Amino acid sequence: MRLFSATIATETNTFSPLPTSMDAYRETVFLRPGEHPADTALMCTAPLFVARQRAQAEGFTLIEGSCFAASPAGTTNRADYETIRDEILGQLAAALPLDGVLLGLHGAMVAHGYDDVEGDVVSRVRALVGPGCVIGVELDPHCHLTLQRISGADITVLYKEFPHTDVVDRAEDLLRLVLATIRKQIRPVQALYDCRQIGSYPTTLPLMRAFVDRMMALEGKDGVLSISIGHCFPYADVPEMGGRILVITDGDKAQADRLATAIGEEFVAMRGRTAPDYLDVEAGITAALAFNGHPVVLADPADNAGGGAPSDNTTILRALIARGAENAALGPIWDPIAVRLCFDAGLGARFPLRFGGKIGPASGTPVDATVEVIGLRRDCWQSFGPTQSPVGDCAAIRIDGVDVVLISNRTQALGLELFRNVGIEPTEKKLLVVKSTNHFMAAFGPIAAQVLYLDTDGPIPRDYRKIPYRKLQRPIWPLDRDTTPGLIL
Ligand SMILES: [Zn+2]
Repeated sequence: MRLFSATIATETNTFSPLPTSMDAYRETVFLRPGEHPADTALMCTAPLFVARQRAQAEGFTLIEGSCFAASPAGTTNRADYETIRDEILGQLAAALPLDGVLLGLHGAMVAHGYDDVEGDVVSRVRALVGPGCVIGVELDPHCHLTLQRISGADITVLYKEFPHTDVVDRAEDLLRLVLATIRKQIRPVQALYDCRQIGSYPTTLPLMRAFVDRMMALEGKDGVLSISIGHCFPYADVPEMGGRILVITDGDKAQADRLATAIGEEFVAMRGRTAPDYLDVEAGITAALAFNGHPVVLADPADNAGGGAPSDNTTILRALIARGAENAALGPIWDPIAVRLCFDAGLGARFPLRFGGKIGPASGTPVDATVEVIGLRRDCWQSFGPTQSPVGDCAAIRIDGVDVVLISNRTQALGLELFRNVGIEPTEKKLLVVKSTNHFMAAFGPIAAQVLYLDTDGPIPRDYRKIPYRKLQRPIWPLDRDTTPGLIL
């Protein structure tokens, strides 16, 4: 038995002022066959990682393809997308004949000329391998579950957790289902329900937690092979953006249709009740300062690099400085030039620095301050569940009672290492501001005395009605009141 695996992944915010090119992939995940680390999955590379570990025991040969992933940002340059796609397709063609293909994709990638990159990849893979080969795809739930990609693959499995701590577990599910299909132990059939809604669904909140737990309890019995909840990725102007439910059963299309409809109707009924409450900046800081206990973790989702934001908005930082906050820390602010200047100034230096507020109007204005360099470290990493994410060279600076972590490799706050790498102990801080929507909860939730979510003037607003969509299929909630959810596959 012969399996091939590769990754091509990013989450594209089509409104982001940051174009994505080959360099963005080089900075994040850029691995040729055989170069994948043995001991850790790099988010979307989980299918290859799991297949490599299980190949011998399961009795198959794994042919490794390239793995390319970039941090979320704007639309990928067309020539660069076609170059990395065609490299993988060339490896695939050379690996034929194949019994199975495992693709570690993200699911919300857009390149110039390609609104549905994953649909393009899956269709081209199918054209090469033929109808008899089993194609399995792992996606992030912040994806667009388009008809082209779902109908082109045999099995698609999404992460269930947000924060995405189950990337490796779901890759195990995918491999198990692909192997069982190749061995003719199961015959997967799919149903796809379009909920016609945009929303945010952290599984750290009770309603969504219970929903996901019930879905997982349904899997693996009575012919139900897999249930995936597509949350959607709101910051993409593509026609098929929106929440969708995918159900895969063993040979029973009517059962898949019934279950996808029932789950979809339940998801629709949860509209407006799945996201946390958001406080404005002043109210959030006031509540955090008044709270008896530490650290109070304040999230800044509107400037989350994980959603394609630059992560250099200065609104909360300015408010902390203006309020004279003591024992506070904020991170990350992406500003490679400021990091370079801090390295040039040296550890312990006090010098005037302009930082943040650079990339676009929604970044706010830069901060000018006399800063003390309190931490410097090259080539940093932070962990996210069982995976690792590079942060690049980092500097910590102090402005009065506020410490700020400056990074050179744009990413959101995921692990406590973001602060510890540069000498800041997050558990000792009174206030801890993290630029992240909800992934921070995996590491910062357990140490937080309290968690508050703020809404700022950052580039990815929490109110989806503020997003200037043009291509998106309408009607869709909450932009439109009357919608018509239903089965589309
Ligand atoms: Zn996601």
